Amino acid sequence: STSILWFRRDLRLTDHPALLAAVDSATHVLPVFVLDPRLLDGTPRSRRLLASLEALAKDTRDALVIRRGDPVEVIPRLAKQVGAHQVHVSRETTPYGRRRDEKVEKALADQGCALVATGTPYAVGPGRIVNQSGSPYKVFTPFSKAWQQHGRPAPAGRPKRISWLRDEVRGDPLPRVPRMEAGEAAALKRWKTFLHDGLTAYDRERDRPDLDSTSRLSAPLKYGEIHPRTILADIAAHSAGRSKAATAYVTELIWREFYADVLWHNPRSAWHDLRPELARLPYDSGAETDHLVEAWREGRTGYPIVDAGMRQLLEEGWMHNRVRMITASFLTKDLHVWWPVGAQHFLDHLIDGDIASNNHGWQWVAGTGTDASPYFRVFNPVTQGRKFDPDGEYVRRWVPQLRHLGGAQVHEPWKHDNGYDDDYPTRIVDHDEERKETLVRYERARGHS
Ligand code: FAD
Repeated sequence: STSILWFRRDLRLTDHPALLAAVDSATHVLPVFVLDPRLLDGTPRSRRLLASLEALAKDTRDALVIRRGDPVEVIPRLAKQVGAHQVHVSRETTPYGRRRDEKVEKALADQGCALVATGTPYAVGPGRIVNQSGSPYKVFTPFSKAWQQHGRPAPAGRPKRISWLRDEVRGDPLPRVPRMEAGEAAALKRWKTFLHDGLTAYDRERDRPDLDSTSRLSAPLKYGEIHPRTILADIAAHSAGRSKAATAYVTELIWREFYADVLWHNPRSAWHDLRPELARLPYDSGAETDHLVEAWREGRTGYPIVDAGMRQLLEEGWMHNRVRMITASFLTKDLHVWWPVGAQHFLDHLIDGDIASNNHGWQWVAGTGTDASPYFRVFNPVTQGRKFDPDGEYVRRWVPQLRHLGGAQVHEPWKHDNGYDDDYPTRIVDHDEERKETLVRYERARGHS
């Protein structure tokens, strides 16, 4: 007998409950990935996915079958071809994934085959954590407390033996991509190195974009090359597991879980304001704003830390968390542009682009999201730069036109006679004025004036 394992955001073989379920259900397992055309959009994210698939193909010793097309047609057709009665998956929790899975499940049921979901890409499945009256949490801290009290299964290990179904089904070739770090082995290696060398300083250094002090596991987590359950179990078993640094790291993983949970309960929040009272906030648009947004996208705002971040995004497909907040704040509160414009740009360029973490991260900064009362939080790009990039190293790394300025001078080129010697652009807006304007708009939207 044959079962299908349909991979999606779980591109690994260790700690993979759906794989274990598939192995238990039949003598052979056909591993499949469906390259939906919407995944092949040429973004860094899609290149990163292809690199991960290349690694997974190797890990299955080329048993992995790649098929192009719409999963709603491809999966039932494959099930019929190999006579599978079960298609195993990790439960998908995004709005698109849920709609797609419902359709696939129905199509499979019509031919007597079951879609069996085991596990999710999260330590606690989205939707599981509710308050005493059975409602979802709207704010992070109580969610985090409830999450910590919620039980979690132990990591599942690798199946002792997997008998892949080979050579019976033809796959489509995987489009080639430039070499990059990807795949389960690389993710585990990165994690172990961080656990032993990086974690102890995490709480002190995680906000510093000039230091390479975070784990850079967002893309591996996004593609499920490593499961957060594995990470949490390793932290608990490690001597530093109860340190402040470990607690800080686990809190960040809980943010990831929280945003997935918010999206599960409010699928509309992917692209709509979560807080309805702020949906009336007036935003700027039109030709003049388009020019400003273009300068933001290209890292030409004249605010060094903002430009460094936007250039890092374009060049590396990744940006430090603190700088994601600063650049998002600049677009929404200095340029008064609606957050989805920025969220889309991030998704177009991030290798870790994730609808739950990205779009709710944007709403958090914009003040339209899950926070209690953050509308007055307007990041000052100069103070933020001076505080979190104290020697200016991060700015000089990404903005060559400011390399002639030493130390923290890079954060305020307007204060130095030679600040613009190398054609760095002048500021496109006045931060102090735009901050006031933002507060006026927010107060008005909240009906306070
Ligand atoms: P570490 O500091 O090592 O954190 C470990 C892990 O915890 C991360 O890999 C990530 O999975 C999770 N995490 C950390 N911070 C957050 C957070 N604030 N929200 C949710 N999860 C978090 N993260 C994404 O994975 N994809 C995105 O598309 C994304 N877009 C963002 C957009 C904005 C505007 C903001 C403010 C944040 C965004 N984040 C996103 C969250 C965070 O910036 C990244 O997860 C982090 O920078 C990734 O680097 P790291 O793996 O070295 O993080």
